[in-house]
Amino acid sequence: MSAAAPSSPHDVIVIGAGHNGLVCAATLARAGRSVLVLEAAERVGGLAVTREFAPGFRVSAGAHLLHQMPAALIAELGLPEHGLRLAGRALPSTALSEDGRPLALGERAALDACSAADARAWPAFEARLGRFAGLLQGLLALPPPRLGTASWSDRRALGTLALRLRLLGRRDMREFLRIIGMNAYDLLDDEFGTPLLKGALGLDAVLGTNFGPRAPGTVLTLLYRLAATRAAGSAALAQPVGGMGAVSEALANAARHAGATIRTGAAVKRIEVSNDRASGVVLESGETLGARRVISNADARTTFLRLLGPEHLDTGFVRRVDHYRSRGLAAKFHLALERAPVFTGVGRHALGGRLLVAPSLDYVERAWNHSKYGEWSRAPALEITVPTLNDPALAPAGRHVLSAIVQYAPYAPEGGWAGERAGFAAAIRAVLEAHAPGIGALILAEELLTPADLEREFGATGGHWHHGELAFDQFYMVRPVPGAAQHQTPVAGLYLCGASCHPGGGVMGIAGRNAARRVLAEAA
Ligand SMILES: Cc1cc2nc3c(=O)[nH]c(=O)nc-3n(C[C@H](O)[C@H](O)[C@H](O)COP(=O)(O)OP(=O)(O)OC[C@H]3O[C@@H](n4cnc5c(N)ncnc54)[C@H](O)[C@@H]3O)c2cc1C
Repeated sequence: MSAAAPSSPHDVIVIGAGHNGLVCAATLARAGRSVLVLEAAERVGGLAVTREFAPGFRVSAGAHLLHQMPAALIAELGLPEHGLRLAGRALPSTALSEDGRPLALGERAALDACSAADARAWPAFEARLGRFAGLLQGLLALPPPRLGTASWSDRRALGTLALRLRLLGRRDMREFLRIIGMNAYDLLDDEFGTPLLKGALGLDAVLGTNFGPRAPGTVLTLLYRLAATRAAGSAALAQPVGGMGAVSEALANAARHAGATIRTGAAVKRIEVSNDRASGVVLESGETLGARRVISNADARTTFLRLLGPEHLDTGFVRRVDHYRSRGLAAKFHLALERAPVFTGVGRHALGGRLLVAPSLDYVERAWNHSKYGEWSRAPALEITVPTLNDPALAPAGRHVLSAIVQYAPYAPEGGWAGERAGFAAAIRAVLEAHAPGIGALILAEELLTPADLEREFGATGGHWHHGELAFDQFYMVRPVPGAAQHQTPVAGLYLCGASCHPGGGVMGIAGRNAARRVLAEAA
C-alpha cells in the first residue's frame, strides 16, 4: 500500500552496518551522497565483530580471518589510516594429522616428504586453478549482467564474460567447462594421492556451504574462494589487530570521515513505500526516516519478506525468495585457555596460522552425511585459529583463545539445540583432544554458536555464512533470485548490498561496493 512519502533529508538510508553496509555507505559518502546507516545491534560489523565471550577473553565471534577483502578496496577506503592494522598476514595453513605428522600446505618440501608424485603435480594444478580463479576474479568486482534486456551495459557485461572465457585459450577453456560443474572430491582424487592435501582442499571448497566435497558445484566454490583470495593480494589470510571487529571499526571510521552518519541500536521494522517507490524506513521505536533510496545489508529473506512485505511484490517473486535456501551449517566454537595449546607436531609458526582438521576427503564427506538428516557431525571438520598468538591483548596475560569454525551443525536438529548442544560440544572437544592431547585440561570457559545462535545474535537468516547458499541456482546472474540480481529490486529505490547478492559472503566488501556503484551510476 502506498503512503505519503516521509520527508527525505538523506539521499540514502543503509539498513545494517555489516561490513558490506559500511563499505556501501563509505563509497556513497565519498561520492558526496548524504548517507544514514541504521544498525539493529549496539555495535557495527554484523558477522565481522570482536566481542568478549568469557571475562577478559575476546574473540572474532563470526568471521575470524581476513582473506577475501581486495587490497585495492582497503587502499581506496584508506582503512590503515582509519585504524586497521594486521597482527599477522600471509598466515600459514596446516593440515593436522592424528599421527603427529601434519602437512604444511603450499610448501613444496613438505608435500615432497608425503608424496613425490603429488609434489610434482602440484605446481601445474595450482597454476591451472589460478588461471580459472583469475577468470572468476574479474567477475567478482562487477555487478552481473541482466539477461534478455536491450541495455548496452548488460550486453557489454555478457560480452566481457564470453571474452574472458575465450581468452583462456582453447585448452584451458575446455578444461574450465569440464570441471566447473564437478565436485571437488573427484577433481582432487584425480590429481593427488595424499589424503591430508585432498582433505584440506576439500574443506576449503565447502567451508560455509551446505555441501560435502562430493556435492556437484564444489569445484566452483573452491575456485570462488581462490578468486577472492587472489583479489585480496597482500591482505590474504590475515589477522587484524583486535580481531575482525577492527575491520568493521575501520570501515565505520572511513564512512564517518566521508560524512556518513551511523546509528547503532536502531532496528528497522519496515521499509516504507510511497508512490511505488521505497521512500524511507520505520524503526522498531516508531521513528520514521525518509530517504530517496534505501539499501539493505540485511539478507534477502529479511529484506523482502519481513521489512518490505510481500504485498509490494508479485507472487512469483515472493515464491522465489521463499525458496531461497539460507540455512547455515557452520558453527563457531570458542575456548578460553589457561595457556597455549600444543597440537601434535605443530610448531609455533604454524600454530599462529590456520589449522585444519580434514584428514581426508572421506572424513569431510562423512562429517557432512549427518547434516543431511538434521544431525550434527559426530566427527566434525574444523578450521582452527589461536588468535592470541599473534595478538595477545585478546586475553589476559599468558592466557589464550581458540576460535574454530565447525562443520557441520544443522540449523534445527530434530528435538532442538537445547538437548543436542552438550553432545555436539563434547564431539568438538574430542576432535580437539585427538590433535592436541591435554587441551581439555586447559579449558577455562567455552562458547558454542550454532547457526541458530548466529541467526539470533547477528540477524542473518539461517545463520548462513553467505546469507544464502552459494550454489549454481543461486549464483551470479540469478543471485539471490532473478529480478533482484543486480543489487536492484522490483521496488524502485530499493537495493540490496549484503552477502545475499553477488558475489556472496566472506568479508570481501565487494557486494557493498558494487551496490554503491550501481546507485551512483543510476543517479549520474
Ligand atoms: C561461522 C562463520 C564463520 C565465518 N568465518 C569467516 C572468515 O573467517 N572469513 C571470512 O571472510 N568470512 C567468514 N564468514 C562469512 C562472513 O562473516 C559473512 O559472509 C559476512 O560477514 C557477511 O557480511 P554482510 O555485511 O553482508 O552481512 P552481516 O555481517 O550479516 O551484516 C548485516 C547487518 O545488518 C543488520 N541488520 C539486519 N536486519 C536489520 C534491521 N532490521 N535493522 C537494522 N539492522 C539490521 C545486522 O544486525 C547486521 O549487522 C563466516 C561466517 C560464519 C557464519
